[in-house]
Amino acid sequence: MPRPLFATIHPDSMQHNLSQARTCAPMAKIWAVVKADAYGHGLERAMHGFATADGLALIELENAIRLRELGWIKPILLLEGFFEAADVPLLAEHNIVTAVHSVEQIKLLEYTQLYRPIDVYLKMNTGMNRLGLRPDEYAAAYKRLRAIPDVRNITHMTHFANADELEHPLLTIAEQVRRFQIGAGDLPGERSLSNSGGVLHQAMISEHLQNDWVRPGIMLYGGTPGGRSAGDFGLRPTMTLRSEIIGIQHIERGDTVGYGSRFVADGPMTIGVVACGYADGYPRSAPHGTPVIVDGVRTGLIGRVSMDMMTVDLSPVPNARIGSKVTLWGDGLPIDDVAHAAGTIGYELMCAVAPRVRIAEGRLGTDG
Ligand SMILES: *Cc1c(COP(=O)(O)O)cnc(C)c1O
Repeated sequence: MPRPLFATIHPDSMQHNLSQARTCAPMAKIWAVVKADAYGHGLERAMHGFATADGLALIELENAIRLRELGWIKPILLLEGFFEAADVPLLAEHNIVTAVHSVEQIKLLEYTQLYRPIDVYLKMNTGMNRLGLRPDEYAAAYKRLRAIPDVRNITHMTHFANADELEHPLLTIAEQVRRFQIGAGDLPGERSLSNSGGVLHQAMISEHLQNDWVRPGIMLYGGTPGGRSAGDFGLRPTMTLRSEIIGIQHIERGDTVGYGSRFVADGPMTIGVVACGYADGYPRSAPHGTPVIVDGVRTGLIGRVSMDMMTVDLSPVPNARIGSKVTLWGDGLPIDDVAHAAGTIGYELMCAVAPRVRIAEGRLGTDG
C-alpha cells in the first residue's frame, strides 16, 4: 500500500504557460528555464512539456548533456556558464551555449583548444551584483572574446533584480535597462534580458528595447516572481501536491497538538492528520493557518509540521474521514498562496519536493 502522497505534474499546463509567455513577448524567442530539475518537475518531463520552446536553459552541465542524450536538438544555454577548463570541450562537443560572466572565463576560453565553434552569452552586471561584467568593462571584455577564433555568436545578456516590482525604490528595471544599453552600446549581436518578471511586464519595458531571447522560468510552472497571483496572468499550476487524511483526532478545550504543543484547542474540535511533512519538502516554517484543501474545502494547518505528517483543522469539513483527499498546493490552491503564508516563494516549494514523493502525470482538473 503506497503512501498516498503524490506530486502530479500537468504537462498540458506547461504548454499553456509557454504559450502565455509567447503572448507576452511575441517578438522574442524563448528559453524555457529548466534548471534545478525543471523547478522540481523533472527534466525529461519538462523537455516534453516545453517541446515548442526555442531552447532550454539551465545551470547544470551534466543535465545539459542529458538533454542531448534524450534527443533535444534545439539550443541549450548554461545560465551560469562553465566552472573549469575541462568543461569547455564538452560545450563544443554537445553544442551547448554558455554564459560568460567573468574575465577568468574568457581566459579559459583563450587557452582551450575547442576544435568546434561555440556560442556565448556575455553577461553584464547591471545592478544585481551577482554575476557579470560591469558596464564600463563590458566592451573590452566583448572585444577580447570576439578575438577568440572558436567563439561564434555573442549574445548580450543581463538579469533583472526586481522584475516583479516595476517601481522598486532602490533599483528599477528601467535603470538596469539604461545601464545595459550604455554598456552594450551598439555592439553587434542579439540581446537577452527578461526572466519571468520581465516577460510578464514585457509591454512596459520593451517598446524601444531589443530583447531577442527571453528566459522565463517560474511563470512556465504556474508561479509568479512575486506580487500578483499567477491566475491574474492566465497561468495555470503545473504541479499539484496531494495527499490524504490518514488519522483523525477529536480534541477538547486545552488539548495540545504535535511537537512543542504549539497549538492549544480553545474548544472541542476535530483535526486531521495528513501524510506529508518536511521530509517531503513541505516547509516546516509554515505557520498556523497556512491554507490546505480537504475534500474541496479550504482550511488551514494547525500545530507544527513534523517530518512525515502535518495536522489540519477539520472544523469546516465535518464530513472528512480517513482517506479524504488533501491538496497541499496546485490545482485549486495556488502555490504562491501557500508560499506567501509560509514566508517563502513558490520557487522554493517546487524545488524542495523530496525524492521520496512519487511523481504522477495528469491533466489539470483531473484527480491525478
Ligand atoms: C533562473 C533564471 C531565470 C528564470 O528566472 P524566473 O524568475 O524563474 O523566470 C532567468 N535567467 C537567469 C539567468 C536565471 O538564473
